[in-house]
Amino acid sequence: MKARFKYRIYPTPGQKNRLAKLFGCVRVVWNDSLAYCQEKYTLREKKPINSDLQKLFITQAKKTEEREWLSEVSAIPLQQSLNDLNQAYQNFFQSTKGQRKGKPVKPPKFKSRKSKQTARFTKGGFKVGQHKVYLAKVGKLKIIWSRELPAAPSSVTVIKDSAHRYFLSFVVEIQPEILPQTDNSVGIDLGIKTFATFSDGTKVDAPKPLKKRIKKYRKLSKSLSKKTKGSKRYEKARARVAKFHAKLKDTRTDFLHKLSTKIIRENQTVVLEDLNVSGMVKNRKLSRAISDLGWRTFRTFLEGKAEKYGRDFRVISRWEPTSQTCSCCGFKGGKLDLQVREWECLSCGAKHDRDENAAINILVAGGQSETKNGRGGKRKTTAKVAAACETLTHRRATAR
Ligand SMILES: [Zn+2]
Repeated sequence: MKARFKYRIYPTPGQKNRLAKLFGCVRVVWNDSLAYCQEKYTLREKKPINSDLQKLFITQAKKTEEREWLSEVSAIPLQQSLNDLNQAYQNFFQSTKGQRKGKPVKPPKFKSRKSKQTARFTKGGFKVGQHKVYLAKVGKLKIIWSRELPAAPSSVTVIKDSAHRYFLSFVVEIQPEILPQTDNSVGIDLGIKTFATFSDGTKVDAPKPLKKRIKKYRKLSKSLSKKTKGSKRYEKARARVAKFHAKLKDTRTDFLHKLSTKIIRENQTVVLEDLNVSGMVKNRKLSRAISDLGWRTFRTFLEGKAEKYGRDFRVISRWEPTSQTCSCCGFKGGKLDLQVREWECLSCGAKHDRDENAAINILVAGGQSETKNGRGGKRKTTAKVAAACETLTHRRATAR
């Protein structure tokens, strides 16, 4: 399996200039080719093949006066840019034909000078040294290996983000490290108030970095809104806002990495509910809270780590009424308002914490998804779920 290893780098002013030139060339090749593909599309012609695009927008373009500067950078990232464009089109075509999982893919877009910049080097275009990484026609970039590369990388992408930070991201083929088997399995319910509730009742809160620094955020965006667009002061204020966002993202990513690693290490089977995140983010009231949480990233992390460590990761359909069904007797209690955090089953009398009950149902549904009968199958009560119900009924008895 492939894994990415990312490192922050600090290029010299000269290297920054050469990188700016490289990013510009990569962008121009992409945009020129994309415009040409779109033109062909409106003429109802087939998408041009990669080698034709390469001839037109790299080889021949270098000979023209307007594009001769393309020869000042390495040709490898330019070709990679066309490969990426091709891939973006393939993803889009497959998505429109319904051959691709996940949410619909949009057609490729033009690249802007203002967003994140990337350029990818493959074999022959880069060399990894002890303290430096050489990129063709950029030079030797100083690097601190915060963690070791497990094998020789097949490619490296140089990135400049909107906060003006530089990174190198290597793709390395790694062997899965199968962890020793365990009998533990867990269902996870993701929520807004509590980030994650596990089927054993454990609750995990997410850091809310934006909430803590909302005053600073307002100050920064207010200062940005007062500057004239395009001015030097505006650019400085914009960079400060971008840096602020980058910090929030780092805090979040760090939390999600630690939590997902812990869950995968401790459990053989992990079941998560498929959340309609894009649908929920459209709900304005919930949108800030949800984007701040990073549910989608969390799922991606769990998926990747399950593969890496040989664990079983399952996602159940979001149509399973996990929060409405009693995890003890299977009675469906009907829709619960988001405000309702605890409820009592009308059929068996078990008292439920809303999220914990949902997490147990998610775990059970995940176990069922394997059986041939699928959803209609007989309710499988694992020892663990039965135990959970006993404590619930016990709690109820003592409460009386
Ligand atoms: Zn019940």
